[in-house]
Amino acid sequence: MIPIVLKFGGTSVGDVQAFENVADIVGARVDLAPVVVVSAMSKVTDALLASTKIAAEAKPREAIDSLDSIFKRHKQTANKLLTAAGATRYATVIDEAKSATSTLLRRIVVEPANYRALQDSVLAFGETLSSILLAQLFIERGISAKQVDARRCVITNDEHGCAAPLMTETFAATQSNLLPLIEAEVIPVLGGFVGSTSTGETTTLGRGGSDYTAAIMGAALNAREIQIWTDVTGVLTADPRVVPTAQTVERLSYAEAAELAYFGAKVLHPKTIQPAIEGSIPVRICNSRAPDEAGTLVCAQIESTPRTVKAIAHKTGVTTVQISSARMLGAYGFLRALFEVFEKHRTVVDVVTTSEVSVSLSLDDAAALPEIVADLEKLGTVGVEKGRAIICVVGEGLRGTPGIAARVFSTISDINVSLISQGASSINFTFAIEEERVKEAVTRLHEAFFGESKVQRSESKVQSSKSKVQSTTA
Ligand code: ADP
Ligand code: ASP
Ligand code: MG
Repeated sequence: MIPIVLKFGGTSVGDVQAFENVADIVGARVDLAPVVVVSAMSKVTDALLASTKIAAEAKPREAIDSLDSIFKRHKQTANKLLTAAGATRYATVIDEAKSATSTLLRRIVVEPANYRALQDSVLAFGETLSSILLAQLFIERGISAKQVDARRCVITNDEHGCAAPLMTETFAATQSNLLPLIEAEVIPVLGGFVGSTSTGETTTLGRGGSDYTAAIMGAALNAREIQIWTDVTGVLTADPRVVPTAQTVERLSYAEAAELAYFGAKVLHPKTIQPAIEGSIPVRICNSRAPDEAGTLVCAQIESTPRTVKAIAHKTGVTTVQISSARMLGAYGFLRALFEVFEKHRTVVDVVTTSEVSVSLSLDDAAALPEIVADLEKLGTVGVEKGRAIICVVGEGLRGTPGIAARVFSTISDINVSLISQGASSINFTFAIEEERVKEAVTRLHEAFFGESKVQRSESKVQSSKSKVQSTTA
């Protein structure tokens, strides 16, 4: 039996109705041998994370109390979803979680050196609790299912907060834990995002990491497809929070999806694509509120659309750094010295452009910026700009299509653009602008490339809000 991985995000298990939808979606697909990966209920990871930060300020009581409402929400949801006996059993699970998180939060106060490890243990409760509830709901609906602790399958290094899975160990553990269930036609239900080191310490894969768990499960089980069920119908032509009229992109290549995810399309965690590519497994992004809509299919097949541009992604909170040095001219070893600074401070560099005497680059995480700048100043003159945003225009057809850059620049000719780069794969065109103007720039670019007049926009806005109401009440 070749399984299919179905991953449901936080909003897909945000409330009673959302859980019901998931049970319907999975119930209609039992013949496909599903493996279900689920996120924490929406906002729960945020609350758990906040509680660890309060504990770190030596306020354990406040930290513990801050979690009351989320435990209550789990209980109330279970009360409405499960039989009385099921709900009582689940209430015991919640009480145990409450006492275990309280202990962990108190330990954060007295063991600051273990902060990140303890934080991961607290965060893991989000996915553990949602997966237990979902598996119980399936069972009560007559769907044969079993909750599996993801820590038994996803084996990682000990980089708490953004642990990297050890693929050989993870594949072996996943196969030995899940294949017997799949053979027995029992649906495994796992929490995403969570893993453990080979010595059994809880880790997490980074925010939004449940998509990555699903992709890893898919690769380990050689699944026929990895389906990411979320609150929008697939990958859209732009972030719908900025461009409400953004449309579903029917197909993307792996490379296009990876670029969009990396440059801000939150719908897909950036690491999701790699395991899918390695196993040649298609990834489909579907809407759990509108399960009949086709969504987006991501696969190896490359398709250039007549429009050439498939979608526009953006991300804010970016810092750009410029290093200028005459020493660079005709010298070798300069770039190595420069990148060693970022390696030393464990900081990821996103976009890089160089000229003969200067290098510009962008950083997502500027936590180590003061130390980085101090080291870079040994190499040359350093300039820093905070509050930047990156916009990334993506499409396989960009390769060799003239005029894209001209169109981008003429559309936003009044906005100052820096750090212009066309990725090595030539399927993306990326640049930085000031953060305050990013919404305006993305909206204008979307209009330019996807041809929406203002009139059409207000009409389709009405339509999309109507269809939302229809799909949630359907
Ligand atoms: P989940 O909880 O299911 O993992 P996320 O909130 O992580 O969901 O991702 C879905 C959200 O991603 C959408 O609600 C949307 O606001 C945002 N998003 C940003 N860019 C895009 C895009 N290009 N296409 C679709 N969604 C996007
Ligand atoms: N619950 C985790 C988060 O909110 C992981 C996920 O939802 O993908 O980041
Ligand atoms: Mg997500």
